[in-house]
Amino acid sequence: MKYWKKLTHQELHNRVDKALSENVDFTKDTSLGYPASKLDDKVFYSDAPFLKDAPTLKTYVANPNHIGCHTLGSSEKAFKGTQEIEREVLEILAVDMFKLENEQFDGYIAPGGTEANIQAMWVFRNYFSNKFDAKNSEIAILASQDTHYSIPKGSNILSIDLLTIPVTFENRVIDELALEKIVKNAVNEGKKYFIVISNLATTMFGSVDNPDVYTNLLEKLDLQYKLHIDGAYGGFVYPFSNKESTINFSNPKICSITIDAHKMLQAPYGTGVYLCRKGLIENVLTKEAEYVEGMDLTLCGSRSGANAIAVFMILFTYGPYGWYEKISILMMRTKWLCKQLDQLNIKYFREENMNIVTIHSEFIPEDIALKYDLVPEQHNDKNKWYKVVIMDHVEIDNLMQLINALKKQIQI
Ligand SMILES: *Cc1c(COP(=O)(O)O)cnc(C)c1O
Repeated sequence: MKYWKKLTHQELHNRVDKALSENVDFTKDTSLGYPASKLDDKVFYSDAPFLKDAPTLKTYVANPNHIGCHTLGSSEKAFKGTQEIEREVLEILAVDMFKLENEQFDGYIAPGGTEANIQAMWVFRNYFSNKFDAKNSEIAILASQDTHYSIPKGSNILSIDLLTIPVTFENRVIDELALEKIVKNAVNEGKKYFIVISNLATTMFGSVDNPDVYTNLLEKLDLQYKLHIDGAYGGFVYPFSNKESTINFSNPKICSITIDAHKMLQAPYGTGVYLCRKGLIENVLTKEAEYVEGMDLTLCGSRSGANAIAVFMILFTYGPYGWYEKISILMMRTKWLCKQLDQLNIKYFREENMNIVTIHSEFIPEDIALKYDLVPEQHNDKNKWYKVVIMDHVEIDNLMQLINALKKQIQI
C-alpha cells in the first residue's frame, strides 16, 4: 500500500479542516460570481455544536461543488482544498486497490454506479468514433445476461446495440460457445468495434465474469475492443477476499473500472467511482462547458464535494488492514450460511469470494421470503432465485432466524 493508511480521528479532522480552509468560504470571502453558497442558514444551522466533531457533515454545510474532473488539466479554484482530497481517494482506489502500476489515471466520484458505467461506455463510443470514425451502428456492447440494468440504459442513451451473452443456469458463467456465435454474427451484420462490460460481481448472484473469455475471443477474431469492469457491487469486497485476483489494472487490457462506495463501503448515496487509464477521458470533453474552469469531462456536472470527504473518512478510519478484517467477517458469516444450507440440502449459488448467497426459489416459501425481505431475481411468477446479501447489519443471529424458519418448513 503506497497511499492508504489508517489515521486517527484527530488527524482526519485536521486534514478536512485544512482542505475546507483552502476552499472559498462563503461567509468570509467576497465571492460574487457563483450561483452557489453554503447550505441555507435558516434551515441547516451552520453553528450547530456537533458539526465541529463531524468533518463530513461540516463539509455538507460548507457545500463545495466538485463539478468537472480533477485529475486532468485545471479545475475550479474555489474548491481546490476538497478537490485535492477527492484526488487522494481516487489514487488509493486506482493504485493501492486496483494495482495501477504507472499511476496514470483519470476519474471522479460519480453520483453512482449507473453514471460511472454510462460514462465508461460514452468514453469508449467516442474513442471509436474519434479514432476510427466509427458509426454508432458499427459499435456493439457485449455483456452477460446477469449484467446490471445500467448497461441497457446506457445502450439506449448512447444509441449503441447491446448484445446479451447467456450464462449457465447453475454456475452463472458466460456461455463461451454462445458468445462466439453472437460476436461472429454481429461481425457479419457490420459490427466492427466492441465495448466489453465484465462484471466484478453481478448484483443478483455476486458472480464474477472472467474478462479473458471476452478478450481471448475478440483477439482471436482480430477485432477492436475496449474493456470496462463493472465493480459497482464487488469493488470494495473482491480485491480483499481474493488477494490473487487479477481483475485490476495489472491486466493491461482493462481500461476502466466502476466502483460503488455507497454499497459495500456504506458511504452516503451519491458516491459511485469512475476510474480509467490516462488518455481516454478526453474523448468526452465537452468544449462548450466554457464557464467551468478546466472544462467538463464528466457526465453529471455539479456534484457535492462532501461525497469525496465521506469516502475519504471511511477509507482512512479503517485503513487497509481494518477494511480487510471487516470483509473477512462478512466472508465468515457467508460461509456459515452456506454450511447451514448444505446441511439442509438447499441449493444455492455463491461465488467463493463474495458476500451474496442466491438460493433456488423452490426451497423458499413466499411467506419466508417476504418475512426476511429476501430479494427475488424477478418480481413475477417466473422467479427462480432469492438472494441474501451479508452486509454489516446481517449477523449470524439474523441468519439463524432464516435457517430456523427453513428447517421448520422442511419438517412439515
Ligand atoms: C448497483 C449496481 C450498479 C448501479 O449502481 P447505482 O449506484 O445504483 O447507480 C451497476 N452495476 C452493478 C453490478 C451494481 O450492482
